Amino acid sequence: MIFDLHVHTNNSDGLFSPEKVIDLAVKQGLNGIAITDHDTITGIEAAIDYSNNYDNFRIISGIEFGCVFNNEEVHILGYFIDYKAPNLIKITNELRQSRLTRGIEMVGKLNQLGLDLSIEEVKKFSGEKYIGRPHIARALIKKGYIADIPEAFSKYLDRGKPAYVERYKITIGETISLIKAIGGIAILAHPGILKDKSIIDYCISLGIDGLECIHSKHTNDDTNSLISKAKSNNLIVTGGSDFHGDLIDKDLLLGKYFVDIDTIPEFKERI
Ligand code: AMP
Ligand code: ZN
Ligand code: FE
Ligand code: FE
Repeated sequence: MIFDLHVHTNNSDGLFSPEKVIDLAVKQGLNGIAITDHDTITGIEAAIDYSNNYDNFRIISGIEFGCVFNNEEVHILGYFIDYKAPNLIKITNELRQSRLTRGIEMVGKLNQLGLDLSIEEVKKFSGEKYIGRPHIARALIKKGYIADIPEAFSKYLDRGKPAYVERYKITIGETISLIKAIGGIAILAHPGILKDKSIIDYCISLGIDGLECIHSKHTNDDTNSLISKAKSNNLIVTGGSDFHGDLIDKDLLLGKYFVDIDTIPEFKERI
């Protein structure tokens, strides 16, 4: 059973609805996906409901929390979470609110830099509920200020760049504890792209359950060394595409980065 364990929808900064993502995943030959939207669980219920239209397609309830450690962004994935848990809903609501405020502040900074952009123009891409930096990037592309999303980040939106504004986040330790408290499995996302690799050991010391060894931004060397690291620390090996719907080098990514669930006992038994 082939699963992509890292998939975004338009409930965070993906382009497609949960229903559309599932149709695409089935077409790509996957047997299931984990919905792992950034800081939100709002897409999970619709995904589970819609997946029932297919006989053999399963949804794993997931989330990807954005944390920061020593000024570097660290993402933690939670799987099999109780997405109706009141403490999770409270925290994700706070995170969402702070994203809306931060979006307005970042637009203000772009205005100070001389770019003509309004929050309404951003909301045409984001909707009212959730704003991520990729939505601001898409609005900047529409206005002709930059050519693509990476350029928007390197010129304006990345941490340390002129339009960056910090938002409320929970710590790595709080995130791992929360995921476990609501019955989930905590996995360090895309460790291969961390600049400071000592963060991997830090997460292990905090009780992370596994490492996302397979990821669309990992090189073969990243993947192999992460699998060794996971094995020597008795950690779960997971993987996924980090599908957002955008074409990356003309590639949809979905269906290319996956794991065989039968090789991950902790996942297989829960499914
Ligand atoms: P935010 O959730 O608002 O902090 O934005 C983070 C999201 O923006 C990440 O999860 C990626 O989807 C995307 N992102 C971050 N950095 C870059 C980058 N350099 N180029 C393209 N996308 C990026
Ligand atoms: Zn994203
Ligand atoms: Fe991530
Ligand atoms: Fe992601």
